[in-house]
Amino acid sequence: MSLVVQKYGGSSVSDAQGIKRVAQRVVETQRQGHQVVVVVSAMGDTTDELLDLAAQVTQTPPARELDMLMTAGERISMALLAMAIHSHGAVAQSFTGSQAGMITDGIHGKARIIDVDPYRVRTAIDKGNIAIVAGFQGMSRTTNEITTMGRGGSDTTAVALAAALDAAVCEIYTDVDGIYTADPRVVPSAQKIDKISSEEMLEMAASGAKILHLRSVEYARRFGIPIHVRSSFSDKEGTWVLPSPGDKIKISKGVALEQPIISGVAHDRSEGKVTVVGVPDIPGKAAEIFGIIAGAHSNIDMIVQNISTSGTGRTDISFTLPIVEGAEALAALRDAQERVGFEKLLYDDKIGKLSLIGAGMRSNPGVSFTFFKALSDAGVNIDLISTSEIRISVVTRADLLDTAVRAVHKAFELDGADTATVYGGTGR
Ligand code: ADP
Ligand code: ASP
Ligand code: MG
Repeated sequence: MSLVVQKYGGSSVSDAQGIKRVAQRVVETQRQGHQVVVVVSAMGDTTDELLDLAAQVTQTPPARELDMLMTAGERISMALLAMAIHSHGAVAQSFTGSQAGMITDGIHGKARIIDVDPYRVRTAIDKGNIAIVAGFQGMSRTTNEITTMGRGGSDTTAVALAAALDAAVCEIYTDVDGIYTADPRVVPSAQKIDKISSEEMLEMAASGAKILHLRSVEYARRFGIPIHVRSSFSDKEGTWVLPSPGDKIKISKGVALEQPIISGVAHDRSEGKVTVVGVPDIPGKAAEIFGIIAGAHSNIDMIVQNISTSGTGRTDISFTLPIVEGAEALAALRDAQERVGFEKLLYDDKIGKLSLIGAGMRSNPGVSFTFFKALSDAGVNIDLISTSEIRISVVTRADLLDTAVRAVHKAFELDGADTATVYGGTGR
């Protein structure tokens, strides 16, 4: 008898019907002879709605109360799912993050896992019950407060429980049939990927493909947990994220990993661009600027420094960061303007980032040419560029992002004959 962790995202439990459908699936898994631990997200767009509600009450909600509010979404789903399972004659027990032993640090809104001690979950399943755990929440032992782990964090709850309970697999159920070569909402001709290495999936997730929370992929790789991303609306085999190429044996089908060079195109609309204009071009200024940004707890992504304009001894530094962190970072920089000695700050939140991901890109010079040619043929202007061993990213205007994604996807011959199915969700 193997232990399976299943995570159901918001679109899978968006209404009573969805909850009943998921209950059926969970009970069937148990009847097939597995021990089942289920992680649930909040129903549909509940988390966004709760955040909107908070914003109507105040523009500056205390982080502790915001976390308290958001954890309520997952509590609703877990209790309803437990009830639905009971109606099938099976026994389910729901647990909040803290009851399930998800111990985090005390940083509200982006807490990181410190320890996972799911003894109550273990006791429940050892009794033959189904355990249901609220996603993306935990508790800090230092502050004794309830925390949340950041948007999309239920995937990470699921993988962390799978590791702590030594599960055979972590199944992530969502509203598409698996991981595609691009977001099927933007590229309907995107193709489903059967297997992807965790390295490539890490780059996809870090580049904005929200199908998996970045930290869940990192966690799965660290603990050797195979992730199976699939739809809760169909029975199709989804995509396996292999923790490492050497771990293929764990995968039931066990076929050797055989990847094309390019695995996919990811896009991201959640970042803004800050330009610090007229920075004195002397050693130490970049360190000062990024020290200020670090102090504001912002996660910087792409950084570009221009060569200094001749004769002025000054340069411009641009970088991208999550829009939600923009205001705090700008305020911190403004406070330090005189000390750093820059001329002015520009902020642009109407940008989009596009990334091409694939193993072996560095060693294939034709890749960059095809990439930039596709963008130029589509009339897409490029603002910033960055590259890694297995990724090229560019920043473009937000309104041209979809066009750019489709153009690059096509140029790399990733388009398939079939139209990808999107079963639900609003894509919010
Ligand atoms: P859930 O609520 O189940 O966690 P998410 O909305 O977080 O679901 O993630 C699923 C969505 O991710 C899909 O509906 C799709 O629009 C988007 N997505 C982005 N990139 C990809 C990709 N490469 N493959 C599949 N889906 C993707
Ligand atoms: N409900 C949370 C969110 O919408 C966590 C999750 O679904 O993973 O971000
Ligand atoms: Mg998600």
